[in-house]
Amino acid sequence: MNIPVRFSSPLRSLEWLSPARVKALERFGITTVGDLLTHFPRRYENRMRFDTIPREESAQPVCVYGQVAKVSQRRLPGRRLMFDAVLQEPQPHALSSTIVCRWFNAFYVQKMVAVGCRMVVYGKPKRVGRQIVIDHPDFEILEEGDDRESPHFNRITPIYPATEGITPRQFRSWLYRLLMMEGERLILAHPLPDGLQTMPYLEALRSIHFPESYEALERVRRELVLSEFFEMQLFIAARRAENTARAGGAHCGDGRLVRAFHEQLPFPLTQAQRRAVEEIRRDLAAPHPMNRMLHGDVGSGKTVVALSAMLSVVEAGYQAALMAPTQILAEQHYLNFKRWLEPLGINLALRTGNRREESNLPLFNASEEPQIVVGTHALLYDAPLPRLGLAVIDEQHKFGVMQRAALLREGTDVLMMTATPIPRTLTMTVYGDLDVSTLDEMPAGRGKIITAARDPSKLPDAIEFMKKHLAAGRQVYVVYPLIEESSRLEVKAATAEFEKWQDALAPYRCELLHGRMPAADKEAVMERFRRNESQVLVATTVIEVGIDVPNANIMLIEEADRFGLAQLHQLRGRIGRGSHKSYCILIHSAGTPEGLEKMKTMEATSNGFEIAEADFRLRGAGELLGTAQSGHTSFKLGDLIRDAALMHLARQAAIDLFAVDPELAQPAHRRFRETLAEQRKLFLAKIS
Ligand code: ADP
Ligand code: MG
Repeated sequence: MNIPVRFSSPLRSLEWLSPARVKALERFGITTVGDLLTHFPRRYENRMRFDTIPREESAQPVCVYGQVAKVSQRRLPGRRLMFDAVLQEPQPHALSSTIVCRWFNAFYVQKMVAVGCRMVVYGKPKRVGRQIVIDHPDFEILEEGDDRESPHFNRITPIYPATEGITPRQFRSWLYRLLMMEGERLILAHPLPDGLQTMPYLEALRSIHFPESYEALERVRRELVLSEFFEMQLFIAARRAENTARAGGAHCGDGRLVRAFHEQLPFPLTQAQRRAVEEIRRDLAAPHPMNRMLHGDVGSGKTVVALSAMLSVVEAGYQAALMAPTQILAEQHYLNFKRWLEPLGINLALRTGNRREESNLPLFNASEEPQIVVGTHALLYDAPLPRLGLAVIDEQHKFGVMQRAALLREGTDVLMMTATPIPRTLTMTVYGDLDVSTLDEMPAGRGKIITAARDPSKLPDAIEFMKKHLAAGRQVYVVYPLIEESSRLEVKAATAEFEKWQDALAPYRCELLHGRMPAADKEAVMERFRRNESQVLVATTVIEVGIDVPNANIMLIEEADRFGLAQLHQLRGRIGRGSHKSYCILIHSAGTPEGLEKMKTMEATSNGFEIAEADFRLRGAGELLGTAQSGHTSFKLGDLIRDAALMHLARQAAIDLFAVDPELAQPAHRRFRETLAEQRKLFLAKIS
């Protein structure tokens, strides 16, 4: 009788796995029985009904079964070795055709494939002369007896990700043995709360690895994706629950300063701003630390919201700090704040790194007990402020859940801000541990931006158009992408491009801005553009986030289809800042469907959230987010786009669970504590 095993049991509890194989699996990150059970197939082959051997090429892969009739090898020029195996149907007749399986420099294949072998082959057939060929197919050599009752044949057969030293066939044998022959030794807890389960967990695992039908596969996939999402949301909900349980001060005054501040603003707050201010005020008043993200596109007016929050804290007699990612942005915030806060009699200070000599702004003086401090992120790590009630962190979107956790000091309320809109499904994962306020509405009275995608033949028209606006006193940006091959090449290409534009737009003054320029030169160039001493800014890399020139109303982007959507959106955010109508011209040669889709999206909308959704569909989550967050978007089975609805369901279930039982103390919930510990380990590993 085999000993019972659990999910967490080490692999060596499976007595039929040799130590060498256990080692090989461990190298691949599979160390427990549970890891093996959740090593899911990457696809399936229907080995009950194979495709007939194709006579034409196709974009769709085929799965065929046959016998090797002939093998040959040939050395190609360039010393590549080509190995061909000609496959024919098992019972060939006059009308059957053959297909060539072809490998290059694959010496291990030559050792395995011989005349007479029976193989299952999967890949895209293409025509080469008179032959139909599959290059480097997925293949499996069948063994004696396979076509009787076996894990490998006559069924919907799982194909596993291959790894060094372990074949997909071995994975299949082991999983078949464990699940189908020794299932009774598995002690399994279903990852989902009782109410969400639709089948026993053993049945689910059996069915994902060895499905009875494609319909069954779809059903079980849902169950397991939901499980996977729930485990993640459990971890996120736990962080929220811990935060709520932490003690913290209430840092909220009577609204006196906030009202005075709003009254002296030359504009009314937007609905979205009002809502955010109110949400934050409620958090500040609560006796546990605030942990909130203010999520809004560039220009949506986050600063006003942040300052309102800071004033609430000052009213209550505490200090508030705002931290910006760069010195320039910190100084910009400081100057804005000064204008708004001086009339209110607030004591404001700037505290940044080590630019004492360079900055002409007053230096921080702790003895003056500033009520509001603006600085760079270094602020966080320097001597803490004695009565800090609220820390506002600007542009914090690149941080993951764990790094954020490290930021938060006991008791302080924290407001994070990001100008990178992300889709709602992602918000639930990467900001899932935070409360989120969204500014999804732009202040009224912004100049309209018209976006038009054009092919390069329209460049002369575009230049005429630009000159007309230059003559009327406006300024323009020209942006183009560069392949970052070497700094020397980049500078050369930048210069060539620059000269082209200088000629085209003469007599207006052009200046060049590129990534390889010394910081001081960059700043000087931007300053001259700001003062309208130059009218055209030709830029290679992303124009500094801080740049704000309301008089610039045209942006022309060359080879626009080579930029990502998010980047195009960020760039376009530089115009439309004044009262003039603005124009974004996207020059592109529309090589790919994806490029065309991007251009269409840019023409159709300037809403950052809609653009983020489109970007998400085109590129997926991994590309959209930084690496720090990728740990929250990679799943074994789940797909954040396809399975968005399941993520919602999982999140609600996790939140409900903690609402009922914050300590997970009920007997029925104890198993989730183990999951939680496991998830913590997992996420720490993923982000480190
Ligand atoms: P961001 O969200 O990108 O940080 P800012 O807070 O810098 O945006 O605001 C962009 C500009 O819009 C600023 O000049 C700000 O004064 C102005 N602004 C903010 N809120 C409003 C509003 N409700 N109506 C009009 N202008 C506003
Ligand atoms: Mg801002």
